[in-house]
Amino acid sequence: MKITAIHDQIVPIKSSIRNAFIDFSQMTVSIVGIQTDVIRDGKPVIGYGFNSNGRYSQRGILRDRFIPRLLNADSDSLLNNDQTNFDPARAWDVMMANEKPGGHGERSVAVGVLDMALWDVVAKIEQKPLYQVLADRYNNGKADHDVFVYAAGGYYYPGKDVSALQDEIRSYLDLGYRTVKIKIGGESLQEDIQRIEAIIDLVGDGHALAVDVNGRFDLKQAIQYAEALEHYNLFWYEEPSEPLDYLVNAAIVESTTLPIATGENLFSTIDATNLIRYGGMRPDKDYLQMDPALSYGLVEYIRTLDMLKKYGWSWRRCIPHGGHQFALHIAAGLELGGNESYPHVFQPFGGFGDGLQVNDGRIQPPQIPGIGFELKADLMAELNTLFDS
Ligand code: MG
Repeated sequence: MKITAIHDQIVPIKSSIRNAFIDFSQMTVSIVGIQTDVIRDGKPVIGYGFNSNGRYSQRGILRDRFIPRLLNADSDSLLNNDQTNFDPARAWDVMMANEKPGGHGERSVAVGVLDMALWDVVAKIEQKPLYQVLADRYNNGKADHDVFVYAAGGYYYPGKDVSALQDEIRSYLDLGYRTVKIKIGGESLQEDIQRIEAIIDLVGDGHALAVDVNGRFDLKQAIQYAEALEHYNLFWYEEPSEPLDYLVNAAIVESTTLPIATGENLFSTIDATNLIRYGGMRPDKDYLQMDPALSYGLVEYIRTLDMLKKYGWSWRRCIPHGGHQFALHIAAGLELGGNESYPHVFQPFGGFGDGLQVNDGRIQPPQIPGIGFELKADLMAELNTLFDS
């Protein structure tokens, strides 16, 4: 059993949207395909992966280091003990050989792309949907039948007024979502309050609306906003300040009864550990958004979940960033709190399989072997280009 080829490509997902910190006019994604010599349904098994939006494509690191390490490894070193399948944890050790600890930078994203593809391979070889593989291995066979999802959008677009924002959010409600998220912190507090109140009018209750600052505020601004937003009883107040400044995060948490959500820009288990140690996060109230596709993949995310268990956190407090189907399987198979979703933005990487419906704010993971990318035609059109030649 061996890997026969790994191909990667850069795909632009540029758009005119912006949050409080970046615009997406130059945004790109790396896609990879890992081809194996294992035959299922008459064809070699290929696993696919890509990085979450918000970080750029990773071609240099992939081609210079991680892809050659996998291709040059003794093939048995990538397999499980009984050599019946690939072992993503062993592949992780191969990829991370000769990498110093700390200073994670972009390499956690590159490893995450390949890790996603490896898990797709593993589940296809087992001929099970990935969530079932994860439930069997790590959760005593228990999995959630469906997963809470919220619709993330509400970006700032050039010329977009409050009624256009309402139209966008209404389209998410029409798709079956019950909880939505919008960006704040990119305009004045007064303008953001107009946006927030316009959406609460639509969703009916502040608890169905989350707001995301994308790390923009200093401590003073973050507390000023928290005080102004407190009475709306929002679903959460996301990443109010610099994600690695745990002391400031703790001071913001201390200042408000609003649930705080953060973690999408923590790229390793040790970063997440420091958030739990020093960030003031409340296990009965706050949310953790570490994104396995950006932070060294599921192999590292399982270490993060183990750490959370040691600190007394329920995995239900985890709702990963990224809106990808990989995290949907992880949420179902490990019984997390839910998953982000981008119904309209970051296509074709956002959203779920064609014909998979959100019902009352929840969705079932795909039931075909692997992650289920094959059920999303526009995404497969991109992924199929990897092996076109
Ligand atoms: Mg965010």
